[in-house]
Amino acid sequence: MPLKVLIIGAGIGGPALAYTLRRLNPDHNITVIDRYPELRTTGQQVDLRGQGISTMRNLGLLDKVKEIGVEEEGIAIVDTHGKTKATFRKSETGTGKQSFTSEYEFMRGDLVKLLHDASLKDYGGKTSKDGGVHYEFNKSVTALTQDAAGVDITFSDGTTGRYDLVVGADGQWSKTRKLLLGAPASAAAFHSLNLICAYYTMPRAPGDDALMKMYVAPGGRGLTTRMGCTPTTTQAYLGMRADPEALAVRCGAPFVRLPPEKQKEILAEELRDAGWQTDRFVRGMRDAADFYAHEIGQVRIDGAFAKGRVALLGDAGYCPSAMTGMGTTLALLGAYVLAGEIAKRGDGDVEGAVRGYESTLRPYVDEIQKISPGVTNLFFPTTRVGIFAMHTVLGLIETFRIDKLIMWLTPEDKGGLAIPEYPEIRFEEKDGEKR
Ligand SMILES: Cc1cc2nc3c(=O)[nH]c(=O)nc-3n(C[C@H](O)[C@H](O)[C@H](O)COP(=O)(O)OP(=O)(O)OC[C@H]3O[C@@H](n4cnc5c(N)ncnc54)[C@H](O)[C@@H]3O)c2cc1C
Repeated sequence: MPLKVLIIGAGIGGPALAYTLRRLNPDHNITVIDRYPELRTTGQQVDLRGQGISTMRNLGLLDKVKEIGVEEEGIAIVDTHGKTKATFRKSETGTGKQSFTSEYEFMRGDLVKLLHDASLKDYGGKTSKDGGVHYEFNKSVTALTQDAAGVDITFSDGTTGRYDLVVGADGQWSKTRKLLLGAPASAAAFHSLNLICAYYTMPRAPGDDALMKMYVAPGGRGLTTRMGCTPTTTQAYLGMRADPEALAVRCGAPFVRLPPEKQKEILAEELRDAGWQTDRFVRGMRDAADFYAHEIGQVRIDGAFAKGRVALLGDAGYCPSAMTGMGTTLALLGAYVLAGEIAKRGDGDVEGAVRGYESTLRPYVDEIQKISPGVTNLFFPTTRVGIFAMHTVLGLIETFRIDKLIMWLTPEDKGGLAIPEYPEIRFEEKDGEKR
């Protein structure tokens, strides 16, 4: 029996799940909603690593991902004069083994669009009148209740619906998580890493080249440029260590709840005298229409991220944070496992599939969320001595090629966990691609 599915959030995980479910059964009736007025194709560079590469291969989308890839040769650590202190070139293993720069780097918006378009494509098979994938924007969920046979939803426009499966893929600050777990448990699941980051594009300048440039200033502040966008623009990344509660007291509200103009003002103030290209970053930020800022943290739910017929997917349920570099990979893997568990059990056992999703994905989530102690201190040192130590350590890693050694000694997939295989989801074979 085809399923009536509601997916909340048209970011990365949501459309990936819609695509996979549709290919498994073109008769599934899948609605994807987003509170935003249109598909949100903003955001800067993201990548695939470890299990994300095999996931996209099984989904038959790895070749498409290569087509949207951006050229980045590696990463250079620079000092306040722009002098390079260490350089790490990208890996080209063709597998999951990646150095600091993955060989599968692309713009977030291009991936969102790729997954959205793929979910709407006809892959053959009969689609009934009600089947297929439908997107609705400017829409969110205000109430959710479930019983053994279905999930009742009230939408922001006052309409209601009953679904066999509801999936919250609505990002780090997921409202679905709040509706599923209650506000206190949902808020308690977010563990701040005491870092604020902002991403935007600014006009390209001489000296911007195919190497990502990373500069760290005293006070735990960081500036980074990357090139993978249009020929006339450069991606700008700002990072700063901040105690969110102290910052909220100073700003009169939590930083993430402030309007973008106010966030820009605060970041400009915090970056004052940071050195290197600070003035350029601040000018670019003031004019940026694609500015996006957030607090870096992990979502670690005390208990299950999927219950009954409701599942949380991607950042909503288990955001690993930008510090792991695995957010995109984990959201895609989550979509693949949830669809795989439905395929494995058949459409009649949604609750079994949701339980299977939780138990199958949990070891990957636990592994991917591990952050080595000292990583924040290494990349966001607060003192000049700390910055000197960081330059020295990274210089030694480059000189003795330790990054390459680690790459060859560690398994391709994070924690050595190969992705689960679902014979129903070998779309690359159905599409005639070689593994
Ligand atoms: C605009 C934007 C820009 C980003 N830029 C970067 C970046 O530059 N670098 C990086 O590493 N990560 C970035 N991220 C985060 C990154 O996409 C995720 O960490 C990761 O890929 C996991 O994807 P996800 O599908 O779980 O969540 P997301 O990609 O965050 O998608 C969540 C979706 O849910 C929607 N949504 C939120 N609340 C509701 C609601 N109540 N009702 C309905 N819909 C809702 C959002 O509009 C969004 O489309 C960005 C996210 C967004 C939304």
